[in-house]
Amino acid sequence: MKLLLKPWLALAIWTVLVMGSLGWNLYQAQATRAELSLKTARSFFDQVVLTRRWNARHGGVYVRVTDETQPNPYLKIPERDIRVSDDVMLTAVNPAYMTRQLAEIAAQTNGVQFHITSLDPIRPENHPESWERLALRRFEQGATEIGHFIQNGEREAYRYMAPLITEKPCLDCHADQGYELGDVRGGISVTLPEVPALPWLSLTLSHLLIGLAGGGLILLSTRLLHQAHDRLRQQAVFDTLTSIPNRRYFIENLVEEFRRGRRQRSPLSLIICDIDNFKSYNDTFGHLAGDRCLRAVAQALQDGLKRGGDFCARYGGEEFVVVLPDTPLANAVKVAEDMREAIAGLGMRHPGANEGIVTISMGVATDDPSNPDHEALIRQADEALYRAKQLGRDRVEAHHPDRLAEVDAAAESLAAATHAGLGIQSGDPE
Ligand code: GH3
Ligand code: MG
Ligand code: MG
Repeated sequence: MKLLLKPWLALAIWTVLVMGSLGWNLYQAQATRAELSLKTARSFFDQVVLTRRWNARHGGVYVRVTDETQPNPYLKIPERDIRVSDDVMLTAVNPAYMTRQLAEIAAQTNGVQFHITSLDPIRPENHPESWERLALRRFEQGATEIGHFIQNGEREAYRYMAPLITEKPCLDCHADQGYELGDVRGGISVTLPEVPALPWLSLTLSHLLIGLAGGGLILLSTRLLHQAHDRLRQQAVFDTLTSIPNRRYFIENLVEEFRRGRRQRSPLSLIICDIDNFKSYNDTFGHLAGDRCLRAVAQALQDGLKRGGDFCARYGGEEFVVVLPDTPLANAVKVAEDMREAIAGLGMRHPGANEGIVTISMGVATDDPSNPDHEALIRQADEALYRAKQLGRDRVEAHHPDRLAEVDAAAESLAAATHAGLGIQSGDPE
């Protein structure tokens, strides 16, 4: 019984498992989100770098001068502006200028923000924001990219930055600043204004549902398990014929009561009962009637119990036991007498018995400190029962060491009387 999982323990384990699963799922969702955002931002960055590289390889490209595309005052190259007709004027667009224009288009179409920046910008407006400055310093120390979530009002945004490494075409414009091939010349930051939200609500709700459903199932199954276990236990410790506890139950509980009695220094009494001349009852009325008689005796014993801790059991065959915790010998004898009278009072006809009815003999013993164990108590009650049988049955005898001699003497005189009645001479072979 003690091995059965307690419902609260099963529930606690289940709760820990569900919480663990929720934590793991949230962690995984966040990791996936971060990876997805990083890849998206990185691919924006890569596209811009690709376009810049194309532009740089051509040494800048010429486009029409319009209201939006005015000549770049920071571009110091000969023939920056070329007039091709009265109406059309072309101006050279270098990679930095192109990046700014791409950034404007991206911001208008999908809200993604690019910012080209440098610790040493040619165009003062390209100076870095504080976080970009920190990122650029880290790039100079070897970092290759930086990305993390930021709070953007109610929602979360993702901020990414990677360095622009000086390539050969870049030196056309940036060699004057002292840059060499491979130097970190600046960087482009990419801000994704909207990233998929962490699905914490749906994950929490689904786990709550799973947790509740599982908890309900655990409660139900542990309840069914306990019921099944109780049924099995009932079958294991109850006698099928008489429906009172069996010998196994008796031994288990006697050991327990024996220990408790010793601990609490309270007297533990034991009655062993044996139906008189039961063999002849069976012989006269048959085994089925014998079974009915056993049931009636068991019921009478059960009905004779007076206190909650008292119990009776079928010891085997037509023998029963009654255990009376915290009961001194005199009281136990009284209980036994009442039970004996109750059984005689049933008036079950038994022609083979002395009184013509079913009677019972009882031996009573109370544990004393000299007993090494519970078996000694059983032996003492058994000796008292033996004496009750010897003294003529249908009686209660208490264990008393001094009275053993008296029993032996009674038994001897009974045997002598029987022999004399049968005309047997002492010393004759029986
Ligand atoms: P005593 O007064 O000395 O106890 O005599 P007894 O005949 O009762 O004792 P004995 O041990 O000779 O016989 C016990 C009988 O109990 C033998 C057996 O037929 C009967 N018995 C044991 N178990 C059962 C049972 O489950 N059902 C029935 N009907 N009889 C049983
Ligand atoms: Mg017997
Ligand atoms: Mg008997």
